[in-house]
Amino acid sequence: MTPDLMIPILAGLFGLLLGSFLNVCIVRLPKNESVVKPRSKCPRCSKEIAWYDNIPVVSWILLRGKCRGCGLPISPLYPLVELATGVIWFLMAWHNGPTLAMVGGGFFFTLLLGIAVTDAREYIIPDEMSVGGLVLGLAIALAKGWVALKVALIGAAVGFFLLWGFAAVGTWLGKRMGMVGGEGQPDEAMGGGDIKMMAMIGAFLGWPGVLMTVFLGAAAGSIVYVPLNMMGNKKLVPFGVFLAMGAAITYLVGNDLVNLYFRFIGVA
Ligand SMILES: [Zn+2]
Repeated sequence: MTPDLMIPILAGLFGLLLGSFLNVCIVRLPKNESVVKPRSKCPRCSKEIAWYDNIPVVSWILLRGKCRGCGLPISPLYPLVELATGVIWFLMAWHNGPTLAMVGGGFFFTLLLGIAVTDAREYIIPDEMSVGGLVLGLAIALAKGWVALKVALIGAAVGFFLLWGFAAVGTWLGKRMGMVGGEGQPDEAMGGGDIKMMAMIGAFLGWPGVLMTVFLGAAAGSIVYVPLNMMGNKKLVPFGVFLAMGAAITYLVGNDLVNLYFRFIGVA
């Protein structure tokens, strides 16, 4: 095996294990349970899951997606999250080599995945992911791994206050339009989780990335939810899912999009 491939494979294996832990976080953090103890159990028969039935992706395939104790299906979400996290770390190592940029990118995308899945399932963005990620993003900037510390700090502040402003305006408008604050309606147009999540994204991407993320997230959210709403579906919007998508696109092709835009308006 070439040494070029060795590091991405090791990073991918680390990603699979991290993905397994991410599953624990996705299930337990919204319930305010410890992610360290106790050992994982089958949610249906409460049988403890042995280590050999808890190998990322592999065990789910060997068990054909069924619990060894009760034979009832195990959600394919678990192996998918593990696989996705493994692929994230493999690709980050492939593109960046064993650098701080690889570590930063790996954790950034792992956090976005965790937030998107938790928000879609429970409409909750745990502080451990948003505020924890904020601290991690600033630490990586401090270690000169990515964006400059000043850009990261301004990014975190812009992300926080931009979403806080949107939330305040959205709640005010929503109440006047009878969409917020009534019976069976949300109390606020946007949760505090989204605000803290955007501070985290700002710490990783800097303030230009924050603006693009919010723009892309709002656009994607509208494209999906406005037609659904017009068809009578009044479900709560897990906005964190769309912000995570916007942040991922910004990380991957943000600069290209900005250049394309400038060329489009004739500046460059
Ligand atoms: Zn079971």
